Amino acid sequence: MKPATRVVRAGLPAPQQSAPYLPGPTFAAPYHAAGEPASAPYNYGRLHNPTWTLFEQALTELEGGTALVFASGMAAIAAVFGAVLRPGDKVVLPSDSYYLARVLANGYFTQMGVQVVMSPTANNSQLEHLDGAKLLWLETPSNPGLDVCDIAAICEAAHAQGVLVAVDNTTATPLGQQPLALGADFSVASDTKALTGHSDLILGHVAVREPALMDGIRMWRNQIGAVPGPMEVWLAHRSLATLHLRLERQCASALAIAHFLAAHPVVTDVRYPGLPQHPAYELAARQMTYFGTIVSFTLADEATAQRFLSASKLIYEATSFGSLHSTAERRARWGGDLVAAGFIRMNVGCEDVDDLLADLEQALG
Ligand SMILES: *Cc1c(COP(=O)(O)O)cnc(C)c1O
Repeated sequence: MKPATRVVRAGLPAPQQSAPYLPGPTFAAPYHAAGEPASAPYNYGRLHNPTWTLFEQALTELEGGTALVFASGMAAIAAVFGAVLRPGDKVVLPSDSYYLARVLANGYFTQMGVQVVMSPTANNSQLEHLDGAKLLWLETPSNPGLDVCDIAAICEAAHAQGVLVAVDNTTATPLGQQPLALGADFSVASDTKALTGHSDLILGHVAVREPALMDGIRMWRNQIGAVPGPMEVWLAHRSLATLHLRLERQCASALAIAHFLAAHPVVTDVRYPGLPQHPAYELAARQMTYFGTIVSFTLADEATAQRFLSASKLIYEATSFGSLHSTAERRARWGGDLVAAGFIRMNVGCEDVDDLLADLEQALG
């Protein structure tokens, strides 16, 4: 089955007379569970929920490996760190990865005796630090710089040295890139972003290549309790069905906007993995089926960037990305990322691309 078909049907139960296609959310803390606990597949709401089960089935189908849902992308990241890393272990992180993943590793996990080494995503430079590592963390394309590394080549080298590999696949989604098929042990994502795409919920997941790796992740979720509410998960499942449609529109528009910005005189350093002038374009074209919804670019300075954001009529000034609403922000306002003061991260939404181009033209003017 083609991805567009799979995503529409992912996780839906077999047809049953008079049942809805996607059963509504199940709200339960304890469930009726008399006698032997094993005789009740659902007994307590922190451990399992039928609404999670269907969404996890959908993610498992799309990722190509067992998936578990978490209350947020950070909860999913923390689960992999927490299940894998022990005092004395070494973890290699991208120095340009999602800011809070670095904060968690450099803060809590360093204090607990884990050695954290960082190296940029570009040029597969993390490979230089594999020696003695327990876990290699990749994020490609990286957020917000959109650098790309070679997942298959890195996994092969890491596995030869007994190093586990996790990929933060948030920017790509499983329709854009398949980390487990490329050899990764863990595929991790914030489903707050493009996977659900409606700017109305916080969610994350972990998927694994070897089912045994899920034991530690599941134990972590049961004990830490970073579980999502059934309503969020049901909304996520409903939104997932349009992921292919949304990516088709958003990524085509993102490419058109990247070309437009690259030719614009006041814009520099346009970054989009689908632009032939991107330093890793050929790798991205081989590794990805969609180049994503984010375009990054730089304006002269902070004041110019803020003027651009205020002048835009269609692009919301807001953080996050992946949504069907176009948004942009001056990334340096947060600190934490090594970007220029005029660096803009734009998320290209589902609006008509002609309207977006016209708005960009007037706002840049
Ligand atoms: C947003 C984001 C996260 C964190 O996800 P939350 O759902 O906000 O907890 C992790 N990784 C990347 C790449 C992200 O963009």
